[in-house]
Amino acid sequence: MHEMSLMESVIEIICETARLNGARRVKSVRLDVGALSHVDPDALLFCYDAVRHGTLADRARLEISRIAGEGWCLDCGTTVALKERFGACPHCGRHRVQMTAGDELKIRDMEVI
Ligand SMILES: [Zn+2]
Repeated sequence: MHEMSLMESVIEIICETARLNGARRVKSVRLDVGALSHVDPDALLFCYDAVRHGTLADRARLEISRIAGEGWCLDCGTTVALKERFGACPHCGRHRVQMTAGDELKIRDMEVI
């Protein structure tokens, strides 16, 4: 389960950021997780509960936003919805679609006190 190491990195980053800003603890964290990123939000939540104890984020609330897959079709020259990595363009059916969204795992923001 690679979600465990991802979550450990997230906790590390937010705790370090909180420390650098002189915060006493982290209140909440918002993550963006792309639908095509091969990261399972439920697994992330599970791992979050496992790794936050004893850190500044001990009682922080975690919110996960799912970001839909999106690509740029080189043949149509338009932005199209992507249901899978390297998926076909829904307009022309070709596969020259560059993924522009849906691949991310990022910390959108966090609240500290
Ligand atoms: Zn197309």
